[in-house]
Amino acid sequence: RSGFVALVGRPNVGKSTLLNKLVGQKVAIMSDKPQTTRHKIHSVLTRNDAQMVFLDTPGIHKPRHKLGEYMVDVALGALKEVDVALFLVEASEAPGPGDQYIAEQLKGIKTPVFLMLNKVDLIQREAVLERILQYKDLLPFAEVIPVSALAGENVERLIDTIIKYL
Ligand code: GDP
Ligand code: MG
Repeated sequence: RSGFVALVGRPNVGKSTLLNKLVGQKVAIMSDKPQTTRHKIHSVLTRNDAQMVFLDTPGIHKPRHKLGEYMVDVALGALKEVDVALFLVEASEAPGPGDQYIAEQLKGIKTPVFLMLNKVDLIQREAVLERILQYKDLLPFAEVIPVSALAGENVERLIDTIIKYL
């Protein structure tokens, strides 16, 4: 099986970190600066049973200028073409306007969207379910997967789940 997977989420939720963990290479530009990931970066994960290409999308955010508009268009275009979209959110924060804006954009597409509650290492285990329930209101998600991109926690489970959609 093979297919394309896009990562979306507001700046600093951990898209580049997760991408690096998934493909085990430093292909994405890591930075705390929101605008670092200007272009889609293609990275390939090859397993004996499956191959997937990951697209690190530029942050989808309310465009404030022409370049911003272009970046949002590129990101949204990529999302329509992929087999799975991973919507990353911050486990340590409740849903905010940035998440809501992205959810609005995702509502119109047919691509299955996974809710990725990232940075679960920053919160208590007992708080995970409550946080998931807050984010689940944003969109009908195909799957919900709590992860720590930094620690690599649950990343194998994520890969196994993606394969089911390819
Ligand atoms: P992006 O803007 O969505 O690509 O986010 P980055 O991957 O650049 O990550 C932003 C910051 O969050 C960096 O300092 C990362 O080290 C940190 N980060 C990413 N994933 C995790 C995680 O699972 N746990 C913790 N504690 N920090 C994380
Ligand atoms: Mg990034």
